[in-house]
Amino acid sequence: MKSLLVVGAGRHGRVVAETAVSTKLYEVTGFADDEPASHGQALGRWKILGHWRETAADEYIVGIGSNATRRRVFEELVRSCKQVATVVSDRASVSDSAQLGRGTVVLAGAVVQSGATIGENVIINAGAVVDHDAVIGAHAHVGPHSTVGSYARILPGETVPAAASRLREGHSGPPISTGESAADNLPLTGGSADVRDPERRPLPPIEGAEMADGEDHHVRLSVPHMSSLELGFVAEAFETNWLSTVGPNLQALEKCLEERFGVPAVALINGTAALHLAVRLAGIRPGEEVISPTLTFAASCNPICYEGGRPVLIDSERGSWNLDPNLLAEFLQRRAAVKRLPRALIAVHLFGQSADLDAILALCRQYEVQVIEDAAECLGARYKGHPPGTLGDVGIYSFNGNKIITGTSGGALVSRNPAWVHRARFWSTQACDPDPLGLKNYVHSELGYNYRLSNVLAGIVRGQLEVLEERVRQRRAVFDRYCCGFAGLPGIEPQPEADFGCPEDLATGRTRHTRWLSCFLIEKQRFGLSSAELIRALAAANIEARPVWKPMHTQPLYRGFECIGGEVAEDLNRRGICLPSSSSLSEEDQHRVIETVRAAHERVVTSCRGG
Ligand SMILES: *Cc1c(COP(=O)(O)O)cnc(C)c1O
Repeated sequence: MKSLLVVGAGRHGRVVAETAVSTKLYEVTGFADDEPASHGQALGRWKILGHWRETAADEYIVGIGSNATRRRVFEELVRSCKQVATVVSDRASVSDSAQLGRGTVVLAGAVVQSGATIGENVIINAGAVVDHDAVIGAHAHVGPHSTVGSYARILPGETVPAAASRLREGHSGPPISTGESAADNLPLTGGSADVRDPERRPLPPIEGAEMADGEDHHVRLSVPHMSSLELGFVAEAFETNWLSTVGPNLQALEKCLEERFGVPAVALINGTAALHLAVRLAGIRPGEEVISPTLTFAASCNPICYEGGRPVLIDSERGSWNLDPNLLAEFLQRRAAVKRLPRALIAVHLFGQSADLDAILALCRQYEVQVIEDAAECLGARYKGHPPGTLGDVGIYSFNGNKIITGTSGGALVSRNPAWVHRARFWSTQACDPDPLGLKNYVHSELGYNYRLSNVLAGIVRGQLEVLEERVRQRRAVFDRYCCGFAGLPGIEPQPEADFGCPEDLATGRTRHTRWLSCFLIEKQRFGLSSAELIRALAAANIEARPVWKPMHTQPLYRGFECIGGEVAEDLNRRGICLPSSSSLSEEDQHRVIETVRAAHERVVTSCRGG
């Protein structure tokens, strides 16, 4: 028998404890509760032992009635790698073809019919009936004696009240035993009619739940995740007719960026355009060399060529996967000896993690090399208390649709030098010279571009910026859940979070990886599949995963350019995998990803043993 701790010392917790005992699978050790004053008190035949973090057990179950609180505690347990139980009363009837998520409790007298799918952390209360092929979202509560009709769908976190019914056909349920009239019980929640008839009303998509016909929907690598604010700013632009590349959203966005980063900012059409202007600000002339990490996305290297510059590629370090400062030091020393120093360097902060900026900046200052920071992938990250992107001579961000926040597209350029930001804004709006006569008689003495962000898109970015911190927390939580989910699997290693020599900075969050993408390294010898084979196995299950960037020195476009080292980048590209990392990724979908990875591993391992 396994020991089980019931988290939550209320009435529902006690019911859960008694139900767990009825299964004869568990020995209940007692209750956990947040309130220190309750510790040591008796509850039924058990005691309240303490907080769950301090109370060991084989498995844990949340015995809390409130859906929101039950969800919060469940997520904390999962993040802390606790084994969460599924408890089915010995007097409940659950079909073999029904699926129950972990953390779910089915109480006495409940019936779960064939093909029903019950998400994680759900309560199927006493006497409730979940008819065939119904789908219950995670953290939902099906109340006592209520009925969920065949093919009905209950949204995550929703409550089906006691003794009311929800039938696909739109019939009312069995007699209501609470003494209230039927009218009092409808609508079931909020003000909307809850009887779902697919012919009359389109069904809302269920977060994470599988479709009733068994079609698994596509889990993508990184998708946009709006807050509730963006549409308001966009509507304002329409209402006030600021539908161009000037307007209040742009001004407000730049102000927000400046407050967040403490440096002047200009909003641009995308990160690539921002990098192009950064390369121009650094004064790259045709034939001049610019250092770039070889491990990056082409968009960070291409702008060097837009200005006729020549990239010199440098390998990555294993600690952060970004530019290796030791190789940089050797390279600059060699070049200084022959008086052929490059003019600038692009430091790229990949996947949400900063490069080792202190080391890179010190070297670049010593040899008078300008530093451009490509912080497109690391918005929200921190390096020793600072936002990467603001420490070099000029930095850029991207609001592309797959980045941590998005304006559907968009970018920004920042610099501590206000003259540079001013210059970038001037170039981005066709470089019209000021006209002393006040006529709009466009006079141009410099080459300009049309790179300014639209005021409509600036409204979207404005709304997104408000939730950046939350998005970082969510992306990091996705990564933590992968780490828990892969615990014990051989040959799959998470990307390290570098401390850059200051472990206490990691502990305090002064240095922070955003986990924009959750990246892992696969060792085929131990895992059984290569990264490429795993990507294919995931694709077959309708899950999008990608290799770590293909190094520039292996690209047809950049063959022939000098590359210092390159073996680390090639290895990271060959063995690295980026898994679905959206901040909106549901636990059900992520569970599917984890199970697909585990199943792929187990299939090869068993077939090897068998053969
Ligand atoms: C996304 C990205 C860019 C380009 O940003 P866009 O806004 O898509 O033009 C540049 N560099 C890196 C490393 C990126 O990931």
